[in-house]
Amino acid sequence: MLKNCQLCPRACGADRTKSRGACGAGIEIEAARASLHMWEEPPISGTNGSGTVFFSHCSLGCVFCQNRKISRREAEGQNITADALAKTFLSLEKKGAHNINLVTGAHYVPQIIETLQIARKQGLSLPVVYNSSGYEQVETLQLLDGHIDIYLPDYKYYSSYYAGLYSHAEDYREFAVPAIDEMVRQTGAPQFDKNGLLKRGTVIRHLMLPGLAGDTAQVLRDIASRWGDSVLVSLMR
Ligand code: SF4
Repeated sequence: MLKNCQLCPRACGADRTKSRGACGAGIEIEAARASLHMWEEPPISGTNGSGTVFFSHCSLGCVFCQNRKISRREAEGQNITADALAKTFLSLEKKGAHNINLVTGAHYVPQIIETLQIARKQGLSLPVVYNSSGYEQVETLQLLDGHIDIYLPDYKYYSSYYAGLYSHAEDYREFAVPAIDEMVRQTGAPQFDKNGLLKRGTVIRHLMLPGLAGDTAQVLRDIASRWGDSVLVSLMR
């Protein structure tokens, strides 16, 4: 798959065994940080934190990215093998993480699946969260079916104009809507444990951008009409 990479909607066709793709990812997994993270939505961070791994690079590249240092093509990060990353997952579980939270990993999906298979064999028992910009290929998400318990996608824009202006992706919504359809198909409606932690489901995030309240309203109407009570919504201000 990495010889003619089509993992994300950019479909740049890079041979990642020889060079980096448009997103900046090569053949090795690169990650910038792995830690207990308290600042996700409350049913994900809980009291102990979410066992979060921030992958380097991103296929979207929003102008307002808060993780610019790790998301750009020339981003900072460290190469890590699937075996070592599986050990990281297990150590986060030992530290009390409520889940394993994979942040912006679309460009590493084949390696993530290999890592999860290793970690499960070694005893990983936590739910796995796939934290995404929403700019995803359905075929790539289908590879994750059975490996992911909670999807945490953004639904960033209704307007293709703003998607082009701020994320260089006029086709954002054309990919995000079927991607979220696939996520909801895989997880079903939200399920919580007795402590209010999310065990399974899809949480759609939307970041309100200054001056774009009209776009936010359209996104929220679209979420309500398409997915209704099958999803949770996190509105970030
Ligand atoms: S994930 Fe990266 S390398 Fe693969 S198609 Fe997208 S931009 Fe290209």
